[in-house]
Amino acid sequence: MRKERIAMKNYYLNIRSSDEYKHKIALYKRENYHKYKEKVSARNATRRLRLNKPDRCSACNEIKKVEAHHDDYSKPLDIRWLCVECHNEWHIKNGSGLNG
Ligand SMILES: [Zn+2]
Ligand SMILES: [Zn+2]
Repeated sequence: MRKERIAMKNYYLNIRSSDEYKHKIALYKRENYHKYKEKVSARNATRRLRLNKPDRCSACNEIKKVEAHHDDYSKPLDIRWLCVECHNEWHIKNGSGLNG
């Protein structure tokens, strides 16, 4: 009897912890969705166009480490290169972007 009850308890504990885990993963994916999407499409576009990554941010024009950004995910070849600050700022103002 006792053994069964413990088994049941563990069973429910497992369900709960795995749901929490899934929820965390989902949350993480949602928060990083645009970055993930951009990384993939930028990689593909870079391969196709052999774009050279510039060393300047196209928004503040400073020489910095830049990230690929898309105003519109339906145009994966329309890349802008933004530094981390300008990139974050854009997404704070515009959300995850059109179609994103
Ligand atoms: Zn910048
Ligand atoms: Zn972006």
